[in-house]
Amino acid sequence: MENAIRHKPKFDDIYMDLAVNLAQRSHCIKAQVGAVLVNETRIISIGYNGPPAGTHNCDEDFGNVGCPRDSKGSCSLALHAEQNTILYAAKNGAKVEGATLYVTLSPCISCARVIYTMKIKKVFFLNSYAEYKGIPTDEGVEFLRKFGVEVVKYEKE
Ligand SMILES: [Zn+2]
Ligand SMILES: [Zn+2]
Repeated sequence: MENAIRHKPKFDDIYMDLAVNLAQRSHCIKAQVGAVLVNETRIISIGYNGPPAGTHNCDEDFGNVGCPRDSKGSCSLALHAEQNTILYAAKNGAKVEGATLYVTLSPCISCARVIYTMKIKKVFFLNSYAEYKGIPTDEGVEFLRKFGVEVVKYEKE
């Protein structure tokens, strides 16, 4: 009999692929970011960046002029993918403590504060926020590592 060992995708790959797909749903005009929150290999929340549900879709509402910017040049209406994802889990009573977050762009410093506060234990990211923004350091990643959250740059094997 043929000894057929079928290739099984790793959970890390499945979740990061999902985050990449979710990013494409974002209505944001600039960065499109997706996130998946997992506890004990089960998905407890998903999300992408954008204004709170039921308010604006930036590409549809501000397509010609661009959405209102904050002082750092980011969309002033959007929640980041990490925040949307964590808030949904918290709102619905899922256990966020000890969870792992998969996100397509490394967390900014304000998301890092939320991730740390919610006791998420591990973060996988695909692309660097610092590279995207043209800033010298990934301050969110540094903050998380400094205070004991494991942060891993995701590389597909
Ligand atoms: Zn916007
Ligand atoms: Zn952020």
